[in-house]
Amino acid sequence: NVRVRFCPSPTGNPHVGLVRTALFNWAFARHHGGTLVFRVEDTDAARDSEESYEQLLDSLRWLGLDWDEGPTAFDAAAGGGAVGPYGPYRQSQRMEIYQDVAERLQAAGHAYRCFCTAEELETRREAARKAGKASGYDGKCRDLSTEQIAAYEAEGRTSIVRFRMPDETITFTDLVRGELSFAPENVTDYGIVRANGAPLYTLVNPVDDALMEITHVLRGEDLLSSTPRQIALYRALALIGVGSGATPAFGHLPYVMGEGNKKLSKRDPESSLNLYRERGFLPAGLLNYLSLLGWSLAEDRDIFSMDELVAAFEIGDVNANPARFDLKKCEAINATHLRELPLPDFTAACAPWLRPPYAPWKPEAFDQAAFEELAPLAQTRLTVLSDITQNVDFLFLEEPAEDEKSWQKAMKPGAADVLRSIHSRLAALGEADWSAEPLKEAVLAAGEAHGLKLGKAQAPLRVAVTGRTVGLPLFESLEVLGRERTLLRVDAALA
Ligand code: GLU
Repeated sequence: NVRVRFCPSPTGNPHVGLVRTALFNWAFARHHGGTLVFRVEDTDAARDSEESYEQLLDSLRWLGLDWDEGPTAFDAAAGGGAVGPYGPYRQSQRMEIYQDVAERLQAAGHAYRCFCTAEELETRREAARKAGKASGYDGKCRDLSTEQIAAYEAEGRTSIVRFRMPDETITFTDLVRGELSFAPENVTDYGIVRANGAPLYTLVNPVDDALMEITHVLRGEDLLSSTPRQIALYRALALIGVGSGATPAFGHLPYVMGEGNKKLSKRDPESSLNLYRERGFLPAGLLNYLSLLGWSLAEDRDIFSMDELVAAFEIGDVNANPARFDLKKCEAINATHLRELPLPDFTAACAPWLRPPYAPWKPEAFDQAAFEELAPLAQTRLTVLSDITQNVDFLFLEEPAEDEKSWQKAMKPGAADVLRSIHSRLAALGEADWSAEPLKEAVLAAGEAHGLKLGKAQAPLRVAVTGRTVGLPLFESLEVLGRERTLLRVDAALA
């Protein structure tokens, strides 16, 4: 029975690296018919926030990455508290568990109190570095006598709790990277409880994995160095009877590189999930792209559905090499998903961008029927849903968007003459003839009279009517806009 977990800390806005980790855990769980546990690692009161927690829930729900166990149900409508038998799923609600485990680890000799001050540690580390030795913790407090402990306490020293690493090489088979070994001199005793009694990530994360019976840990490569420590801790937990006693398998997902081949960081603007949401990426398009950061369905298949991903996802196929984040490719994949939507789904998906605060027109000016007439033309042209606003705004604004640059580009010397000819030919068309084909014929003829091809002839018309130099096919647009409004706008442009 496969049990994986997605366990972010609620600090700041969700970013694409986090989503990639969630996605791979989700795909792995679904592929194996297993369980995805959503756990919130909120033990750092100074950095965690409730707002960020809510954002995590909201983001996973938007993406459709459903969890099976967690602090609340995936289905927001279900409301209520924790779902699953291993709760609570927020670490801030599990503090007593960690305290208890820390005490038992010490009682069994797997952990000890360390009284070294930060300055002492630094001095010794520096000396070790100079001597060319490994500079981890030197084990000074490993075997303090009761008298030494009493003396330190009398001095008023505080203590942290340190885990005692076994004196042996730790070897494991990474699901992505194969066999890895860590020599003991490189993995030294490490802190698991702060001086103020607060348990650290190094303790709570493996304790919860053990108690929640996690079978596979899939997480970013940045956490690889903590894995030998955690494996040693699992073994100690098994000895004191915490959890099932089995050590999970680990798979470390490759780094994601951004601009200039630097690691994509939370601070890079293109890493913010909210940005993709606001620009109108489809969850299916964004997730399709993110799954390619370290994995592929087949060499010649960039576009696939979440069902196809789940069916094909093997963790052993994940590539250990860093993956490059390519925004252009991400957009292109999203555009393809947009095009493949059934039309009613596409028009429904556009809805948020046809209202305030995205849409600049008065809400009462919006006309769903007019929008739906142009929607099929827009669907094949959009990269992201938010582009819909400027493609149809000419229908709903009282006057076309003002864009000085477009205006100057299209209204070259002589353009007014062409536009006048166009106007008279359009005005000659009655309501009954006001449709794309005759409109095109009229503009074509007006252009010919001035020795212009259709493309050149229609440029000033497009700007006069839509305010822009590019947009949806012009004659269909004029058909939907209607005779009267079109002629008024050409008049206004000529005035
Ligand atoms: N809360 C940890 C983080 O966000 C999770 C690490 C892990 O997956 O073990 O980095």
